[in-house]
Amino acid sequence: MARIAIGGFQHETNTFAPVKATYQDFEMADGWPGLTRGDAIFEVFRGINLPLPGFIERARAAGHDLVPLLWCSASPSAHVERDTFERISGDLLNLIRQQPKLDGLYLDLHGAMVSEHQEDGEGELLERIRAIVGPSLPVVVSLDLHANLTQRMLRHASALVVCRTYPHVDLAETGTRSAELMDRLLRHGPLAKAMRRAEFLVPLPWQCTLINPAAALYRVVEESEGPGRAASASFAFGFPPADIAECGPAVVVYADSAVEAEREADRLIGMVNAAEKEFAGKIWQKDEAVRYAIARSANATRPIILADTQDNPGAGGNSDSVDLLESLVTLKAEGAVFANLYDPETARIAHEAGLHGSFERGIGAWCGSPGLQKFRGRFKVLGLGDGNFKATGPFYRGNNMQLGPMALLELGGTRIVVTSRKQQAADQAMLRHVGVEPAEAKILALKSSVHFRADFQPIAEEILIVAAAGDNPVDNCALPYRHLRKGLRLMPLGEAFQGFSATSRT
Ligand SMILES: [Zn+2]
Repeated sequence: MARIAIGGFQHETNTFAPVKATYQDFEMADGWPGLTRGDAIFEVFRGINLPLPGFIERARAAGHDLVPLLWCSASPSAHVERDTFERISGDLLNLIRQQPKLDGLYLDLHGAMVSEHQEDGEGELLERIRAIVGPSLPVVVSLDLHANLTQRMLRHASALVVCRTYPHVDLAETGTRSAELMDRLLRHGPLAKAMRRAEFLVPLPWQCTLINPAAALYRVVEESEGPGRAASASFAFGFPPADIAECGPAVVVYADSAVEAEREADRLIGMVNAAEKEFAGKIWQKDEAVRYAIARSANATRPIILADTQDNPGAGGNSDSVDLLESLVTLKAEGAVFANLYDPETARIAHEAGLHGSFERGIGAWCGSPGLQKFRGRFKVLGLGDGNFKATGPFYRGNNMQLGPMALLELGGTRIVVTSRKQQAADQAMLRHVGVEPAEAKILALKSSVHFRADFQPIAEEILIVAAAGDNPVDNCALPYRHLRKGLRLMPLGEAFQGFSATSRT
């Protein structure tokens, strides 16, 4: 039986986003629990799909004595404020210092945290921890698939274990794998390690593990572990909107000998590199996508899905852009459904007009992002809802959705699902709530990049990734990078970074 301290500090930093993460953001609960300390951790995290509870369950089953420190996370945003990073990491370091004797330390981190003063948040934290616990204490860290792996993380952690699915359905399992690796380190001592990087960034829609090449790659990563093979093998896609030197995909392998670790890391990164051209999927322009979808849907039995990825509220969009809607209506995409448009005022007016009523106004562009225009027309009200329903798809399953007053509007053969709260269009129940049967639509335009696939891919004829106006550019060349390492290609098979990106040149 070993005495293992456990904790976590998670943030996914988009260095191009407008708003920074404050202490309150970490204190507050969102989709996940708020800042939790001590024994409360055992209660609050039970049964949640996060690495920490996965670790707790397996480590307890192995008979270990766990010492809960603190755990917190904040929604993805711009940099973590300097004071916030110092306060939380300071608390964590103090709690570790106070422990009389530890045999191991497990941390549930994200891997893409950038603070105002540290471009490698996790590497900095691990270096400070190592200075306290000494060189030999086993420190195991689980990470998100979007981690930007760094040399400092590799150096100061005994093992880094990365999640393997996007949508992230295996977070708890990643914690379980971390506990198993901790056991091995406690019993057999340290492992040799090797890390390799790919020299190209992969946009989020092509990181999805429900489609190839990612699905096939993760199968190979998993199969490379086992007796006589690697003790642990991981591949992280990285988080592209992070303007830091060590941004991008990387593999990390732990094995009994350095030769084995290096050999396996070389093999895995070789496969990632060989898949580069498959990651260079097509990004459709909006009119081109709508014309194709209209033609294709004429003899299709299932909907053509247009992923309105640049307005995905899960990655920096506001779900209020009507740019793609305008194309659908203008090009007369009969039988199309556009979801979800976040516009509380339009939802309110629709409820006032009543079922089968109509009203004229400019809809969308609710949040005032520069460059977004409203779309004016006379809309019919085909459905109304209070926004309270249960999600039914694999991603949000069982969640009690509270999207506020909702409405189904119609203009020129296109139906529009309007919500009063911002929520990624990743569950069919959102459409059914206002009377749309998703499988019967000709075209489905969804504000989501990847998470929609869990519920919608099984009913889709074909899925197109579309670039309409929004705050979450799918083409990394549109981001004004300054700090990436030179030579890194901003897109698969794309141009190499030369110290400034396409946008920063103009
Ligand atoms: Zn992630």
